[in-house]
Amino acid sequence: MARIQIINQEFPNNISLSIKREDELHPIISGNKFRKLKYNIEEAKNLSKKKILTFGGAFSNHILAVAGAGKEFGFETIGIIRGEELSGKISENPTLKLAEQLGMKFDFVSRTTYRLKETKSFIAELKEKFGDFYLLPEGGTNSLAVKGCEEIVSNLDLEYTHICSAVGTGGTISGIINGSKNKHKIIGFSSLKGDFLQKDIAKFANKENWLINCNYHFGGYGKVTDELIHFINKFYLEQQIPLDPVYTGKMMFGILDLIHNNYFPANSKILAIHTGGLQGIVGMNKALEKKGKTTLII
Ligand SMILES: *Cc1c(COP(=O)(O)O)cnc(C)c1O
Repeated sequence: MARIQIINQEFPNNISLSIKREDELHPIISGNKFRKLKYNIEEAKNLSKKKILTFGGAFSNHILAVAGAGKEFGFETIGIIRGEELSGKISENPTLKLAEQLGMKFDFVSRTTYRLKETKSFIAELKEKFGDFYLLPEGGTNSLAVKGCEEIVSNLDLEYTHICSAVGTGGTISGIINGSKNKHKIIGFSSLKGDFLQKDIAKFANKENWLINCNYHFGGYGKVTDELIHFINKFYLEQQIPLDPVYTGKMMFGILDLIHNNYFPANSKILAIHTGGLQGIVGMNKALEKKGKTTLII
């Protein structure tokens, strides 16, 4: 069980904020990716699969988690990576470098090809190339992943009024909704632009006690601003809790902003889920350094 830490700060209206440290579940298979993989690994074993194939971008937490799970549970892993230009540059990319050390094999494809990743013909092509495999979608979201994410909240104290999580594909928040009680209000903070997520979540979710806040994406997926970087560094120095710039940093910025704008009723007990993603900081810092920007404190 991940520990729950109270955020040591005075908030208005007797509001309290705690954070569940799912980032500490495993050193490589971090946070929600651990939850999402758990039942998929079981299923792959039951089906006697030897290989797991999945998709992701250059700094993907999911890619690294799958590589780590393959190493730990005895599967060959194959990552179909967006961006042909990366193929000669594995050593410059901390995420891919570590995934490779954990045994993952890569296939770098163009953005156009990557968009075909869910088509039958492309998957048939991949089977021809790599042999039989257990297929995990981009981000690892499927019904078994949602089932695993229910366990993030299943043993939770009933005292919390609100549970908050970062949202990418929506699998994690769907699991949190399904594992929650009706009296909990579930708030997802979208790390990307657009409201297409609502439909994806509604497909999996078994309750209506949730909403998605789309106001804190900071320009879109993987985008950051100086304000966000400054916030994450300040939070780290004050609380000794590291946040990642793609997901949890944006969520925490949003929660604190909403608290200070009186969004939450008096006496709310808010629980934020730390879904992990800290491995991405090194790669983000490299990119920030190149642009001469302030980097994240590690
Ligand atoms: C992948 C990821 C998410 C998003 O999870 P989804 O199930 O895709 O919504 C949130 N936080 C972190 C740290 C992640 O790595």
